[in-house]
Amino acid sequence: MSLKIKKWISDLPDYVAGRTLEEIKKEYRISEVYKMASNENLYGMPPGLSKKLVSDIESIYYYPDSSHNLIRNRLSEVYGLSPDEIIIGSGSDQIIEMICDSFVGPGDNVVIADPTFPIYDKSALKCGGKVIKVPLDGFRQDISGLLEVVDKDTKILFLTNPQNPTGTNITANEFTMVLEELDRKVLLVLDEAYYEYLQPEDRIDTIESFYGRDNLMVLRTFSKIYGLAGLRIGYGLGSKEAIAALNKVRLPFNVNSMAQRAAVYALDSRGYIDEISSKVHKHKQIYYGVLDENNIEYVRSYTNFILINSGENSAAVVEELLKNGFIVRPGECLGFPGYIRVTIATAEINKKFLDIFTEIYKYIYK
Ligand code: PMP
Repeated sequence: MSLKIKKWISDLPDYVAGRTLEEIKKEYRISEVYKMASNENLYGMPPGLSKKLVSDIESIYYYPDSSHNLIRNRLSEVYGLSPDEIIIGSGSDQIIEMICDSFVGPGDNVVIADPTFPIYDKSALKCGGKVIKVPLDGFRQDISGLLEVVDKDTKILFLTNPQNPTGTNITANEFTMVLEELDRKVLLVLDEAYYEYLQPEDRIDTIESFYGRDNLMVLRTFSKIYGLAGLRIGYGLGSKEAIAALNKVRLPFNVNSMAQRAAVYALDSRGYIDEISSKVHKHKQIYYGVLDENNIEYVRSYTNFILINSGENSAAVVEELLKNGFIVRPGECLGFPGYIRVTIATAEINKKFLDIFTEIYKYIYK
């Protein structure tokens, strides 16, 4: 090729996305396929929202509001923060990218757990930063280990609660330790993409920690429990100074108009969100029961997915599941070879999945 692409681009890690329903239907010639690989809300979006979207489509010939006023104002009421302390992204992954664009450059480093959500790594590398990875302690983030490697060049510490791909949590004590021990010159980014799946007693009041602190940013999303993954909208809460910096690097029309309006509606569907959270919690207990009965190991999860030990022949398990119409996430691409990550679905689909998975597991490991 005669075009000269920057040399370091080829070194950036690729993001391996989950396989699509269409791909699998075509490849395996089956009509019934269940995607349980990317942690969407498999109960769908809040009731009534699809009708709203249909009526909103009439106005998509206009550019969207580049300041995202409607949704920022609504979020500011919900959280008791100023709209200037809120940023909206085309998914929270775009906010992670904006954060790195604003805070990381050559000579800087960011500290992350390993494995973790891959966009922290990619976004920091793209800005010329170095990434310091601290292995998980078992399946949990090693909070002391993460704090220990922070040095004078560290710009960001990324924490994820609950974590992806393990589904484990961070306790209130661990969070307090980070707030107390982390140098205030380092930005703490707490990614709470799955926050609403935490049971009320496990939730940490991270927003409360904002007051009097400018080095904390909390990320949440409408992609998970709010059921809007395909529309791409997430938000970040942080100090006015940090948010102003992100707005400098943000593209003006980064979030489409349908997503902005749908997010306001979804945010007001509190009852639906609570219902999904408790349903998923209940279904996880059913998974644990069936997996225990069959002596299959798994990681207890605070989210809407479970990391399951699918054994040394995991590739064969994944393949058999695909043949039966179940797309799960192979652990190899998540840093957990020998595991699969499975999104909790509706009661009927969970039952079908557990029946087929245990049958395949027994057959492969008989
Ligand atoms: N953080 C974590 C931990 C995630 O798992 C995901 C989605 N897989 C995201 C952020 C990004 O979500 P979105 O860009 O859809 O808001």
